[in-house]
Amino acid sequence: MKLSFSKKFEAIDLQGLSEASVQAKPSDVKRILNTGKANSLEDFASLLSPAAEPYLETMCRLSQAATLKHFGKTIRMFAPLYLSNECVNVCRYCGFSRHNDIPRITLSLEEVDQEASLLHQQGFRSILLVAGEHPKYVSNGYVESVVQRLSKNFPSIALELGPLEASGYAPLVNAGCEALVVYQETYNENTYRSLHTAGPKKHFNWRMDTAERAYQAGFRRLGIGALFGLHDWRQEAIALASHAQHLTRNCWKAQVSISLPRMRPAAGEFEQVEFLPNHQFVQLIAALRLFISKAGITLSTREPAALRDGLIALGITSMSAGSSTEPGGYSAFDETSFTPKDEQPGEQFHIADERPPAVVAEAIAKAGYEPVWKDFDQSLLADPSVSEPMESSDYEISKIESLKSLYPVSIK
Ligand code: SF4
Repeated sequence: MKLSFSKKFEAIDLQGLSEASVQAKPSDVKRILNTGKANSLEDFASLLSPAAEPYLETMCRLSQAATLKHFGKTIRMFAPLYLSNECVNVCRYCGFSRHNDIPRITLSLEEVDQEASLLHQQGFRSILLVAGEHPKYVSNGYVESVVQRLSKNFPSIALELGPLEASGYAPLVNAGCEALVVYQETYNENTYRSLHTAGPKKHFNWRMDTAERAYQAGFRRLGIGALFGLHDWRQEAIALASHAQHLTRNCWKAQVSISLPRMRPAAGEFEQVEFLPNHQFVQLIAALRLFISKAGITLSTREPAALRDGLIALGITSMSAGSSTEPGGYSAFDETSFTPKDEQPGEQFHIADERPPAVVAEAIAKAGYEPVWKDFDQSLLADPSVSEPMESSDYEISKIESLKSLYPVSIK
């Protein structure tokens, strides 16, 4: 019988790998880059090292080539649709944490239709349904009803909800969901316990094995992630990479994608513990691509516009755009600009890239990529040319203004 990731995880020496990463030598990095990929978790850790920073441009070029090979010149577009901000958990970093004094909203089915219709008008056909963890929504068929209503107009529906048993996921798959997203938040168990002090989310291993239960239930896409800012970023990255590798090997019929959200301001005003600087964020994206070439990498509106634009060609495969993180938030957007008219007091966190979806799509096209609103696989099948590697002259990382400022040292 296959080991679940939580069992495998017990044997990973995160602290040791993180320390080895900090001590890696330029010769270690050169050896890995000469092979064009990271062949082990140790290699991946070396690519996160200070010694790898001067090789960021080389890492980005290799990352770009691997991404083009597996995904073509496309960026999948999606938008979150928040159904409810009611939550029984205490998560100290989240605006929806149950002790926070925010307006609590759960959309009626008619309100969901209204929000979905606005996203549909913007061009989205791929949506991520998000809700706090509350028995009211997972046990009474609410989410199932939402999915049944929306599946006619949205061929790709993903869920981000409190973890369930595989048997609880099956009706949602049957209703039309294809993807499940669940972030471990932090892979450090002590930190996890100190941040999740009440509610079902307290169970570290139960959460860690959620993606595997979702796979058993039939989800075709599995999304995992860590919330960077809660613990040592190298340890989080190494654990996340190992988790993604485990899923790609054991849930091989599903597309695995990785998210790297960094902390944003939210109600509760939690102070992040460990900041992941921009240049190391880019280094992490490139290192992930060199370790797991076939995993999707998602970039959300938590990141500022200039950085997102610079990252389009460097390894990411999907982007959200024009996001509201408040239930009912799109209905309060300005009709012409599709941006918030006012503060959204019930939001989960405040986004950084507030551009309307069409402007983000333009930026993707300007970078030479195709924004894919509808179905990733169909787009690739329809136009084989998108899989052709770019000529090296098409792409010069050192000319991307928004990334130049990230380099802490000269580029080799
Ligand atoms: S992170 Fe999720 S589970 Fe925790 S308070 Fe926020 S919505 Fe609830």
